[in-house]
Amino acid sequence: MTVYLDHAATTPLDPRVLEAMRPLLEHDFANPSSIHAPGRAARAAVERAREQVAAALGVSPLEVLFTSGGTESDNQAVKGIAWAGRDAGRGAHVVTTAIEHHAVLDAVEWLGSAQGFEVTVVPVERDGVVDPERLLAAVRDDTVLVSVMAANNEIGTIQPLEVIGPALAERGVPLHTDAVQGFGRSRLAWDEWHLGALSLSAHKFNGPKGVGVLALRRDLAATPVLHGGGQERGVRSGTYNAPGIVGCGAAAALTVAEADTEVPRLRALRDRLLDGLLAVDGVTLNGSAERRLPHNANVAVAECDGEALLFALDAAGVAASTGSACQSGAAAPSHVLAAIGAPSDCAHLRFTCGRTTTEADIDTAVEAFTDAVKRLRDAGGGFV
Ligand code: PLP
Repeated sequence: MTVYLDHAATTPLDPRVLEAMRPLLEHDFANPSSIHAPGRAARAAVERAREQVAAALGVSPLEVLFTSGGTESDNQAVKGIAWAGRDAGRGAHVVTTAIEHHAVLDAVEWLGSAQGFEVTVVPVERDGVVDPERLLAAVRDDTVLVSVMAANNEIGTIQPLEVIGPALAERGVPLHTDAVQGFGRSRLAWDEWHLGALSLSAHKFNGPKGVGVLALRRDLAATPVLHGGGQERGVRSGTYNAPGIVGCGAAAALTVAEADTEVPRLRALRDRLLDGLLAVDGVTLNGSAERRLPHNANVAVAECDGEALLFALDAAGVAASTGSACQSGAAAPSHVLAAIGAPSDCAHLRFTCGRTTTEADIDTAVEAFTDAVKRLRDAGGGFV
């Protein structure tokens, strides 16, 4: 059986979530926008899920919009809020950080290259955390949006939104956060941090794929990216994915209900994993040790090729992930690893634990890693 340590890529569907979705997959198929009884029943299920997500985030149900996932939520937030700000005459400048997921970074860059916006991409420090002063210094009177992720998907670093959010609120600048990785694993404080918009993706917290959330503050305007039937406050048209939405609501409720026990459990597993990985010569941690998601271990491995190491682990039944394609010196580390100055002549491996991870999984992974690194180095590192 595979030891699955790639929960940042996606998580297994929790059986309890599947049970919540089952009636909508099997027989309650009506369109939640239809006014007949089956339609109203489906609508009621969607609205229950909206309440579950709202409670999980500490927002009003009116502020929860369902989307097709993190990518759509990020695009809608970034483009929609920027367009609305520009059209209201507030300006055309957007600020983000260098380590955002491409769903944010590329959307912001597109606003710059194709939509006439000015864009500032703020670097992060070597530990993968953005310096709030540096970020706030980039904000101008004509800034219509700042987008900073809650936590990074590769190196797991947690950004200082507790400082950035209130400072932006004082200046009246809306803040969007991509909380796709942070939700359920790091603190999110909608009101205290004055968040204007927040993205989630259900498949990252043991819900189904293809459904996400954009929490959008009631008084924050966002021009729709999709035009159509006018669902979801007119911001996100399209027939409701009722089974997915119900799964998203159930998954969000479970994640929050279990966080008090699950987060320390994940941290203990991750620390056991890191102890084992870092015991191997020439292995170092990428990203901050302190401001870090509890389930994330991302390491640099000297004298090894990333893909060769990943394949060796795969052959040993351990599923992890690499953030770089280092090949014969012509390495191409991911934009995140490049932004923290991670060396390109070594392997970078990400292991992420989740709800199904056990101590035995960790021990198997450490053994497989130790063995694979030794064998690869004996064979010259596996560089091609
Ligand atoms: N944002 C972050 C931080 C992510 O990790 C991901 C997925 O990897 C996304 C956005 C995109 O989410 P989705 O897969 O739901 O489109």
